[in-house]
Amino acid sequence: MKDMVLLGDEAFALGTLHAGLSAGFGYPGTPSTEIMEYLIDNYERNRAKDAQTPVAQWCSNEKTALEAALGVSFAGRRAVVTMKHVGLNVAADPFMNAALCGIKGGLIIAVADDPSMHSSQGEQDSRFYADFAMVPCFEPTTQQEAYEMAFEAFDVSEKYHVPVIMRFVTRLSHSRAVIHADETKIRAQNKLEKADRKEWMLLPALARKNYERMIAKQDELVAYTTASKRNPLVLNPKRKDLAIVTGGLGRNYFLENLEDYKAFSEKKFPGLGIPSTLHIGTLPLPLDSLKKLADTAETILVIEEGQPFLEKQLRGVLPQKTKVVGKFTGLLPRAGELNPDLVRKALGLEPNKTVLSETAAVADFCANLPGRPPQLCNGCPHMDSYTSLNNAVAALVEKAGKDNVTVNADIGCYALGGAAPLNAAESIVCMGASIGMARGASQAGVKYSFGVIGDSTFLHSGITNLVDCVATKTPVTVILLDNTIVAMTGCQPTMLPSSQFEPLIKGLGVEPEHIRVLATNPANREANTKVLIEEAEYRGVSVVIMVRECLEAFRIRNKKAKK
Ligand code: SF4
Repeated sequence: MKDMVLLGDEAFALGTLHAGLSAGFGYPGTPSTEIMEYLIDNYERNRAKDAQTPVAQWCSNEKTALEAALGVSFAGRRAVVTMKHVGLNVAADPFMNAALCGIKGGLIIAVADDPSMHSSQGEQDSRFYADFAMVPCFEPTTQQEAYEMAFEAFDVSEKYHVPVIMRFVTRLSHSRAVIHADETKIRAQNKLEKADRKEWMLLPALARKNYERMIAKQDELVAYTTASKRNPLVLNPKRKDLAIVTGGLGRNYFLENLEDYKAFSEKKFPGLGIPSTLHIGTLPLPLDSLKKLADTAETILVIEEGQPFLEKQLRGVLPQKTKVVGKFTGLLPRAGELNPDLVRKALGLEPNKTVLSETAAVADFCANLPGRPPQLCNGCPHMDSYTSLNNAVAALVEKAGKDNVTVNADIGCYALGGAAPLNAAESIVCMGASIGMARGASQAGVKYSFGVIGDSTFLHSGITNLVDCVATKTPVTVILLDNTIVAMTGCQPTMLPSSQFEPLIKGLGVEPEHIRVLATNPANREANTKVLIEEAEYRGVSVVIMVRECLEAFRIRNKKAKK
């Protein structure tokens, strides 16, 4: 037994390695990034001495990552693919269809949700995707569970021939705890053995059969989750008023209040104990356990981290007489993360005076501090690029009016240029959207239409929009901010080096004289503004590549060079 202090993401990554992983793929996205970083570190350190070291690589986007993982599974070996919650939207096509393939080597799709949107544009809850595709979902609540569930999820994936979602949330991904790894249980990798081709050919006649088979599997999966130790049911038939269902970190917050809740229950219902409880750590819903719970109580309180997924599902499967309360009924907030104080209130407990007074004092103190929204680093190259763009936009607005100029930006550090003091963008929607929106605005009649995108985001999902612009000869000015790195998630490498962008864009059909490569720095601001205006006037597709290395990447590169 080896004890280690690991992040939730790292504990899971170690679990996959110990469970016989052959390959991991992913696209960086907070809070999931550290899973792949752990696997890549293992790969880089060990591959020279051991050819069997599991491959671990970043990919252009979540879709390509999942497709690579599918290839590993088809070959009979275990694979993991990692992404943040909105990344699963990008990978939704292979994900939904993977559910219809007869998964051969275990396949885990590790998705990290971000309640409270600490570094995301939405709070979407990946359990809805698991339900949509009818595949199991594991949800660890501790670092130890994250480690152990890697083994279980691979086993379930291979036993039932389905992909499995492993759902993380920010607080678990990014907090550390001791984990115990039993090294006697380390598994060897599966041998190479291809899947049956009939199970993977999703042609309509075969896919129809696969779909029916997937539906037929649901009873087996429900039987599995009902028997699973991850879904413990503790019945107390003496308490008929209430039962409690927890999901994800909701359990931790419930347990933090347990001693007080026991005392509270004893006062209110002497000798009857606390209500029955069911924790749901694996999906699909353990229906028998839920029915037993409903038989004991008139009301079920659902405490879950994320959107009210369980609460919604329960309303559909429990008898109508059972009242379900939680986020839909306002007992817990719909938006943002849970915390022990919120759960305490939902349980009917008095506010925890010590915690509350401290919290109130901190809140009071914070309320008087000046706001500190995230900002570009001092000296960031984007600062110079946006200054040139703002000056170009001001000149174009002067000439054609504000409704004839639009700047659509994208996801990355440069999204920070959308806020004060630069206020350089009018839209930031999702990865890759900037170029598509610029095209649409241009086609709607906006004369000067800019799409601002980073190097990695361009390769992730901007490139196809540029193809559309070229194919439709739509006048747009794409500004590719090439800082040579995926900066926002901690400086992972961009899939292609800077030198490849110009030939790549030329190959897509952009006229060579309208691919402008500019060094972005304070001395060039004015000259770069002129180039941006020139290209905006061009009635075709132009791409202005503004190049300078991210400061953080520069620091990391120098540090490595000194070692
Ligand atoms: S990390 Fe790099 S790209 Fe991001 S704000 Fe700082 S300097 Fe700019």
